[in-house]
Amino acid sequence: MVYLDNAATTPVRAEALQAAWPWLTSEFGNPSSTHELGNRASGALSNARATVATWLDCRSSDVIFTAGGTEGDNLAIMGLALANPRGRHIVSARTEHEAVLAAIDALVRLHGFEVSWVPVSPAGEVTLADVSAALRPDTTLVTLMLANNEIGTIHPIAAIAELAHAAGALMHTDAVQAAGWFDTRITTLGVDALTLSGHKLGAPKGSGALYVRGGLALEPILHGGGQEFDRRSGTENVAWAVAFAAAVTLLANPAQEGPRVAELRDGFIASVLEAVPRAELTGPETNRHPAIASFTFAGLNGETLLLELEERDVIVSSGSACAAGKTDPSHVLLAVGCDPDIAQTSVRFSISHATTAKELQQAQAALVAAVAAVSALGA
Ligand code: PLP
Repeated sequence: MVYLDNAATTPVRAEALQAAWPWLTSEFGNPSSTHELGNRASGALSNARATVATWLDCRSSDVIFTAGGTEGDNLAIMGLALANPRGRHIVSARTEHEAVLAAIDALVRLHGFEVSWVPVSPAGEVTLADVSAALRPDTTLVTLMLANNEIGTIHPIAAIAELAHAAGALMHTDAVQAAGWFDTRITTLGVDALTLSGHKLGAPKGSGALYVRGGLALEPILHGGGQEFDRRSGTENVAWAVAFAAAVTLLANPAQEGPRVAELRDGFIASVLEAVPRAELTGPETNRHPAIASFTFAGLNGETLLLELEERDVIVSSGSACAAGKTDPSHVLLAVGCDPDIAQTSVRFSISHATTAKELQQAQAALVAAVAAVSALGA
């Protein structure tokens, strides 16, 4: 099997599972308990937090363990917007993940917030001038993702954070697809909040972390026993926190891995565009996520192509897997101005650090055959 759906989820690293195992079995204590079993669990949680903090270059107490990217986005956006009453205005873009869009929608519906959507180019890019123009005296929060999960567009987050701060607003970034591929250190990005998801980086589904700058007010979305510095109540998932930290330590250096994988991706893109005349790359031609290549195939149905590729042992997704089950065209493609009929034809290939050139050749050959098969079906 050639697995090219790593933006949907990654396989769990054996080391992450091994690290988690004791905390699921013999070391089952509750970190809040004051006996030895509890103390050891609490120690494991602290160590995991320190590991993640070192990687992010932030303070341990600024790392909140969550149950993944959706929770992190919701907690950051709702929590910061509701607790920092500068105003009821948010700046974002329509190409964000549903977790961000839906959290903003909840603020609008339930709390009277207004949103300014920064315009995006056909490649999904925003300009600093447009971000600046969207900022208002009552803007509480700017939320823009580091790397887009569907079309691979990158936003200049450090520069946007500077603009937001100069205007007195806070800055959150969804770095779920960026972790391990870009420098996500807080000292580099200068953001106030940053969302991470474990299952995109070799840890189990339902693990994750959210960075929130210390001292910032954050309204919890889960109310209860006050765990995670009163920011995320609920008995901590020690095993998943430990697995998340273990997976983070295994991430390659983005400065080395980014260019190496980008070269593989570029070879793949070129070979697809050459062999399949109807293929069109979505997202930017340069300066994109090293591991994401998505195309539209005018006249062919993306879901049918996906099935034909699977027949040939190549696993990909059509549009966004997070919207799986939905047959609607991708909101990201619609937001960048793609015709809805064309958006239905999209297929995303997302590679991993372990993907080889040979696997990409196999995928390209399978795609050529799949396109021929679907064209013959007239689908
Ligand atoms: N943000 C982005 C950019 C994503 O790609 C995803 C998942 O696909 C999420 C958030 C949601 O993360 P999770 O699946 O951990 O809830």
